[in-house]
Amino acid sequence: MEALVPPNVAPIRTRTVLVIEDEATIAQAVAVRLRSEGFTVEVANDGPGGVEACARLHPDVVVLDLMLPGLDGLEVCRRIQRDRPVPVLMLTARDSETDLVVGLAVGADDYLTKPFSARELVARVHALLRRVERTPDRAAGVPLRLGSVELDLASRVVHVGSAIVHLTPTEFDLLAFLAKRPGRVFTRDQLLGDVWGYRVGAGGRTVDSHVRALRRKLGTEVIRTVHGIGYAAGSDEHS
Ligand code: CA
Repeated sequence: MEALVPPNVAPIRTRTVLVIEDEATIAQAVAVRLRSEGFTVEVANDGPGGVEACARLHPDVVVLDLMLPGLDGLEVCRRIQRDRPVPVLMLTARDSETDLVVGLAVGADDYLTKPFSARELVARVHALLRRVERTPDRAAGVPLRLGSVELDLASRVVHVGSAIVHLTPTEFDLLAFLAKRPGRVFTRDQLLGDVWGYRVGAGGRTVDSHVRALRRKLGTEVIRTVHGIGYAAGSDEHS
């Protein structure tokens, strides 16, 4: 059953977003807005249903509420990231909740606190997709080194010694961005603009969360904190 498509024309692929949210009014509003932007949207209204739908649909992006019946958003995030990296935008009910979740560094790529505008959510989803789908790096042939950590930009595989360490897409992008610019210090806002793809305030905790996750997985020496400014690749000894 050959499709009658010229071989060099890529078929237009609809991006699929899975929305895991138990509040029907929010889930509906988000789904309607994303559909109007051309996305295919499926909604799951509890944690187990969300994990199941993710395995079945292989969505391009997951919008995941933190407080869910069955399994909470943290556990859902762990389970869906275990099988295959998928960008996750996590929804929280208040700023203090975001602080808590960010501290746990569970592997969400971005956070949005309720109440949020549908426009803001769509902008974040687009930014996540742009990052995941952007063309491979031109310097992809040369692995980057940070002490005992080696990043292969083409395969997006990270080794510490001979062991492979699993990073989420955003963790990889953040580390690669810093490692490509050794010695340069970036503010949280610069990193949000360059790595996450948007420039809005109050996203600094998202950066902190990913730095914490990278240090936990790869050791504290991969990224140093420059107090009062931001972050840079490498350990304090190099400053
Ligand atoms: Ca909820």
